[in-house]
Amino acid sequence: MNILTPNSPTADLQALDAAHHMHPFTQGAGLNEKGARIITRADGCWLNDSDGNRILDAMAGLWCVNVGYGRKELAEAAARQMQELPYYNTFFQTSHVPALNLAARLAQLAPGDLNHVFFANGGSDANDTNLRMVRTYWAEKGQPEKNVIISRWNAYHGSTIGGTSLGGMKGMHGQGDLPIPGIEFIEQPNWWAEGGDMTPEEFGLKRAQELEAKILEIGQDKVAAFIAEPIQGAGGVIVPPETYWPEIQRIVDKYGILLIADEVICGFGRTGEWFGSQKINIRPDIMTIAKGLSSGYMPIGGSIVSDEVAKVIGGTEFNHGYTYSGHPVACAVAMENLRILEDEKIVETVRDVTGPYLKEKFESLTAHPMVGEAKIVGMMGSIALTPNKETRAPFKADAGTIGFITRERCFANNLIMRHVGDRMIISPPLVISKEEIDTLIERAWLSLNEAHERILAEGLFE
Ligand SMILES: *Cc1c(COP(=O)(O)O)cnc(C)c1O
Repeated sequence: MNILTPNSPTADLQALDAAHHMHPFTQGAGLNEKGARIITRADGCWLNDSDGNRILDAMAGLWCVNVGYGRKELAEAAARQMQELPYYNTFFQTSHVPALNLAARLAQLAPGDLNHVFFANGGSDANDTNLRMVRTYWAEKGQPEKNVIISRWNAYHGSTIGGTSLGGMKGMHGQGDLPIPGIEFIEQPNWWAEGGDMTPEEFGLKRAQELEAKILEIGQDKVAAFIAEPIQGAGGVIVPPETYWPEIQRIVDKYGILLIADEVICGFGRTGEWFGSQKINIRPDIMTIAKGLSSGYMPIGGSIVSDEVAKVIGGTEFNHGYTYSGHPVACAVAMENLRILEDEKIVETVRDVTGPYLKEKFESLTAHPMVGEAKIVGMMGSIALTPNKETRAPFKADAGTIGFITRERCFANNLIMRHVGDRMIISPPLVISKEEIDTLIERAWLSLNEAHERILAEGLFE
């Protein structure tokens, strides 16, 4: 067969892609008709496509390329490890140097007594681990009926059976008869869309107190854990009101239920701290990690677990693990990625320099007639599109119509900015420069203007 290259004609690449490649979270037939955009190379914050465009990637891939594209040290770390020990497992009482080093390094970086790491290949399967781990934890403590996990509507915890079940995406639950039993949901702290006449502070408190009501409804002796992202990512970068997390921490402490912070996006500098839990000042018992752990250069994820949970789980044989748990090449790349984040002071730069700069520019987008609020923490932000900033009304068109039009304009202007419903979201590489931030904001303005014009012309601005 004819193997194509990045220099092959776009039409050939698209045709072969359409013929054989099934895309995640995509309506295949529609895409195949249109043809996928083919990304061929990347460096820093910039992607090249097969038509020769240079695209500013304000999403860092899928929220993961924290140190930017094209870091040779990461390629070299992988090549070195592949030659020394390309694979060995960590089952059956064996270990290897990359896994033990990375686990120790993560224990050092993680807050509190989160000192133990169980490796997975990404965030979804790490959350599957968490689901089994918290239930096993309570069973080992003699309370096997304490097995319900509370999550939130519009949360994203991955796409496996466990991840989908723990997540609160109704469109995902509808496919495959999910969630599995034993998962319960409370509402999300999305003040813009759901806060009504309340102040953000009142609303944050109210949404947190739904956790207490849910625990009492189910029974304290039946609830194993609460899982949440410090800041919801795929749900639309929902930054909770200040009052929300302190109240959640109070409630999980009061009722003695485990707190799982899904740090898959928030971890490794995205919020301007090493972990989102530090930014919002919570004390999780387990943190889910993936994405920025390797800056996406290798698939790797895991769970960082407290001394107490590790001690209890260690008392039994935990019949769980993946062939590639702690894969040596992935661990070596993650280790080098952490070195880059630390040596180049990337987290501090986000916190003190580029984060505040981006915040100021990003918030200025609220001057646009279509932009209601702009929320940003570190390098993750979102804007709400609305026809009425005062009432925070949604558009009359189906949710996502206006967001999609705006995203298409961003694409046309060589800016990758996603939409979730009618929120536009960004999550750029943490190494984005001030100059690149200016370009991002310029292209966002241009795209918003073009979308606004079109929405007015089509009578959709209502
Ligand atoms: C992306 C994501 C996941 C899933 O991670 P995968 O590596 O895609 O399996 C889980 N939780 C959160 C918060 C995520 O953003």
